[in-house]
Amino acid sequence: MFSADIITLFPDLFPGPLGASVLGRGMADGLWTLRANHLRDFATDKHRTVDDTPSGGGAGMVLKPDILAKAIDTVAPADDPRPRILMSPRGKPLTQARAHELAIGPGAVIVCGRFEGVDQRVIDSRNLEEISIGDYVLAGGEVAAMVLLEAVVRLIPGVLGALDSRDEESFENGLLEYPHYTRPQTFEGTDIPAVLTSGDHARIARWRHEQSLALTRARRPDLMKD
Ligand code: SAH
Repeated sequence: MFSADIITLFPDLFPGPLGASVLGRGMADGLWTLRANHLRDFATDKHRTVDDTPSGGGAGMVLKPDILAKAIDTVAPADDPRPRILMSPRGKPLTQARAHELAIGPGAVIVCGRFEGVDQRVIDSRNLEEISIGDYVLAGGEVAAMVLLEAVVRLIPGVLGALDSRDEESFENGLLEYPHYTRPQTFEGTDIPAVLTSGDHARIARWRHEQSLALTRARRPDLMKD
């Protein structure tokens, strides 16, 4: 079963949106588990200190390597097969392909950074895979971890009802998805495209593919390079 462990200074934020709708149902059905571990529980002094000032100077604070390493080693001992991930704007951008790989694996241990980030030595020694959710900077890794898990967990078999609705989704075939319509037949004077109500499935499939191509070419030509 896919089991996710989060290491965070804000465990109360979880499961948050991951507890709603199909993901929440999947959790209740035992298709995946989520545990939010409080980094502060691994602190050793009476103030439960988890951060310190950056060596070399500069603004902000850095998560201490000894405390974070202890948290990682406790949550995921050396023989734990799950990938160890650090949410990080410097990481490799999250892709649908990586989400698929993670979804068929045993789960993930996800470290959420805060402040200026984490001491480089723990990234290196614990072999943390840095993953970014986009080219912008958040205040912490929690929302990024939720984004990652939401993308992954919906791919776990049984979590989404209609399995085959996935294949045509954006990014699954290197294209953005075609537009959707539903009743009423006329909305504010605009009809549903006639082809979609024609009952001609081959024509519908062709129309959708053409729409996908046109949208991708216009909005995301970078997806079409290969
Ligand atoms: N000083 C860092 C930013 C720290 S932001 C830098 O300039 O690279 C604090 C934390 O938020 C990070 O440690 C990371 O865990 C999380 N975070 C911020 N932006 C993110 C992004 N785009 N993707 C994933 N995690 C992000």
